[in-house]
Amino acid sequence: MAEGQSIRVPASATPVRIPLTLDNGDAASRLWVQRAMVDEIWVEHGAWRSPSQSFFRPGDMDGPSFPAGFVFDLPDGVKDVDLMVSARAPVVVRPGAMSPEGITDLQQRGSALAGANYASLAVLSLVALSLFAAVRDRVYLALLALSATAFAWFVAANGHVYGWAGVRWVALWGVQGVFALQMLHCAAATWLAQRYSELDLGARRIHRLGNGLRYTALGCAAIALLHLDALSTTMAWVAMAIGALTLAFAIASAYVAVRHRIWNSLSVLTVVLVVAFAFAMRALMAFGVHGFWVRYGPQLALTVCILLVAVGMIGRIAHVRDERDRERLARGDSERRLEREAARVELVQQLQRRLRELPAGDLEWAAFRSLFERLLPLLRLESAALVAYGFHGFDLLLAEPISSKAHYTDLLQARMGMMKGLARTQAPVQLQLGNGDALHLLHGVVPLPIRAPAWGVLLLQRSDGTSFTDDELALASDFGRLAVQHADEAAAALSLRRSAELDALTGTFNRRTIDLWLSRTFSEAHRQDGLLSVLFVDIDHFKSINDTHGHAAGDAVLRQVSDVLRRELQATDLLGRYGGEEFVIVLPGRNGDDARQLGERIRLAIELVRLEYEDKPIRITVSVGVATRLPRESEPAAAVARADQALYAAKRGGRNRVNVAPAVFT
Ligand code: GH3
Ligand code: MG
Ligand code: MG
Repeated sequence: MAEGQSIRVPASATPVRIPLTLDNGDAASRLWVQRAMVDEIWVEHGAWRSPSQSFFRPGDMDGPSFPAGFVFDLPDGVKDVDLMVSARAPVVVRPGAMSPEGITDLQQRGSALAGANYASLAVLSLVALSLFAAVRDRVYLALLALSATAFAWFVAANGHVYGWAGVRWVALWGVQGVFALQMLHCAAATWLAQRYSELDLGARRIHRLGNGLRYTALGCAAIALLHLDALSTTMAWVAMAIGALTLAFAIASAYVAVRHRIWNSLSVLTVVLVVAFAFAMRALMAFGVHGFWVRYGPQLALTVCILLVAVGMIGRIAHVRDERDRERLARGDSERRLEREAARVELVQQLQRRLRELPAGDLEWAAFRSLFERLLPLLRLESAALVAYGFHGFDLLLAEPISSKAHYTDLLQARMGMMKGLARTQAPVQLQLGNGDALHLLHGVVPLPIRAPAWGVLLLQRSDGTSFTDDELALASDFGRLAVQHADEAAAALSLRRSAELDALTGTFNRRTIDLWLSRTFSEAHRQDGLLSVLFVDIDHFKSINDTHGHAAGDAVLRQVSDVLRRELQATDLLGRYGGEEFVIVLPGRNGDDARQLGERIRLAIELVRLEYEDKPIRITVSVGVATRLPRESEPAAAVARADQALYAAKRGGRNRVNVAPAVFT
C-alpha cells in the first residue's frame, strides 16, 4: 500500500476488513495507524491475529506518554495483512509502516503539543474562575465554560481521558461522548461570542441567532449523551454542522465587535479565521490532506483564540466594574424613589384620615406628628424638630424624640433671628448649628410654607453627622409642605363647619343649631326622666335703640348682651340667637327654680351694663320667659311655646322682669 493513504471507514456493527500491502518490508518497521475513534482495531494475516486495541480502552500499552496512534508488531517478513476496524461512527484511518524511531518522534511531538495545550486551557479556566470570583460578571463564567469545555473535548478527542484512572468511565459514551463535549464547547463558544461582542446591545438579530444556535447545540449534546447507537452516524454529521455554524457565528460576532471598536477584537477576528481554516483543513483529512499540523493545528489555534479572548476580557475588567457600579447605583436609586413615593402616599392618607375629626390646636399637632413618623426613618434621622410661630394662631415646638426638646429649645433661643430669616427664604439649607460653646452639629434647616407673619422651619439632625443630599432636603421640604397644606385645609374645613353652626354676629349658636340641640336635649331628658329648662331672653325696646343710635349700635348691643349671657352660663348650658334680639338658653338638668334664678341674674347683669356708643350712653334691659319640661314631654315645641308666652307676659308686665310659665298655660 501507499504510505499515509487515508481510508474512510463507515459506521458498522461488524468489523470492516481493509487489505493492506506494506511497501516497507523492513523487519524493524511496524504497522502504525494514526489514532482514530475506533471501537476495535486489529491486524490479521492468515491464521495469525494481533491483539486488538481500542481508542476508548487504551489498556496498559500507552503508559504515561500520550498515545498518538495504534502500533502493531507484525510477524517477520509479512507484507500482506488485513486491517480489521469496527467503529460506531464513520472514521478516517491512515495506516502505514513506520520505524520505531519515527513512532517515538511522533509520540513525543504529539505529547508535547497536547500537554502544552491542556496546561494552557487549565490555566485559562482557573484565570476565568478567579476573574468571575473577583468581578461577578457572567462574561467570565462564559470564558470559564469555553476553556473548560475545550479542555474536556480535546482530552476526549485525543483519547487521553480514557487512559486516566478516575475518568475512564467517560468511555461508556464512546464516540457520542466526544460529540457531546464538542457540542457543549460550541454552546459555550456561542455564549461567549454573544457576551464578548455585546450583541444584545447592538446586534439583536445576530444575538437571537446565537441563542438559537446555543440551545440547539445544548439539545444535540443531550441527545448524544443518550448514547443511541442508531444515531451515531447522524450525530457525527450534526456535530460537524454545529461546529461549522459555531465558527461562522464566531466570525460574525468578532466582526460586529470590530465594528463596535471593542478592544482586542481585531486580533480575535484574525485568530477565529485561522481556527476556521484549521478545522476546514482537518475536515479534508478524508480526502488525503494530512500532516502533523493538520492533526494538531485546530486545537492549537483554538487555544490561542481562547487566550486572546481572555486577554480581551481582562482588559475589560475596569469597564465591567464601572458598568456594574452604575447599575447598582441606578437600582438603589429606583428602590429609594419607590420607598419615598410609598411614604409620601402613606403620609397623605394619614393626614386626610387623622385631621378630619380633630379640633383646632390638636389638628396641627397631629399633622406634624404624622410628618415626623415618616420623615425620621426615611432620612435616618437622629432627631428632628418643628418650629411654627403663629401658625393658625399657635406657637408650636415639636421635637422627636422628646428627649431632644431641650437641645432645640436652647438652639432656638440662641438662633431665633437666624431661623426666622431662613424661614423667609423658603430654600432648605444645611448648617453647623450649636448654642454657645456646645458642639456644633450639622443640621438640615427646611422652611415651611406658612403665610407671614407666621413662620416655621423643620430642623433635622443625623447621628453620624453625614450631610443631607439635595434630594433629601427636597423630600423633607415636600413632606413639610404636605403637612402644612393638610393642616390648613383641615382648619379651613373646621371653621366652615363652625360658621354653619354659629351666628355670625354674636358667635352663639344660630337658630338651626339651637333647634337641633333643643330636640336632642328634650329626647335625652325624656329618656332619662331628667330635668330640663328653657329661657327666652328678649331685649326691651330694641327697635328704639336701632332708631335712636343706628343699626351699628344695635349690633353692638346684641354682641354685648350675648357676652353677658355667656358669662352667666355653665359649660353644659347652651346659648343661641333665636332671631332678631331674642336669645334662647337651654339648661339641661335644671329645674324651674334654678332657671328663674339664672334669669334673674341675667336680668340684673344686663341692667348693670354701662354701654356707650359714640359717647352716648345706652341703657339696656331684658325680659325673660322661663319654662320647664313637663314629665312625658319628649319634644321641645310645647315648652318653647310656654317660655315664649311667659316672655310675652313679662313684656306685658312692664319689661325688665323674669316670668315663669305655669305648668299649664292656656
Ligand atoms: P319689645 O320691647 O316689645 O321687644 O320691643 P322691641 O322693639 O325690642 O321689639 P320688636 O320686635 O318690635 O323689634 C325688634 C327689632 O330688632 C326689629 C329689627 O329691626 C331689629 N333687629 C332684628 N335683627 C337685628 C339685627 O341683627 N341687628 C340690628 N341692629 N337690629 C335687628
Ligand atoms: Mg325686643
Ligand atoms: Mg323681639
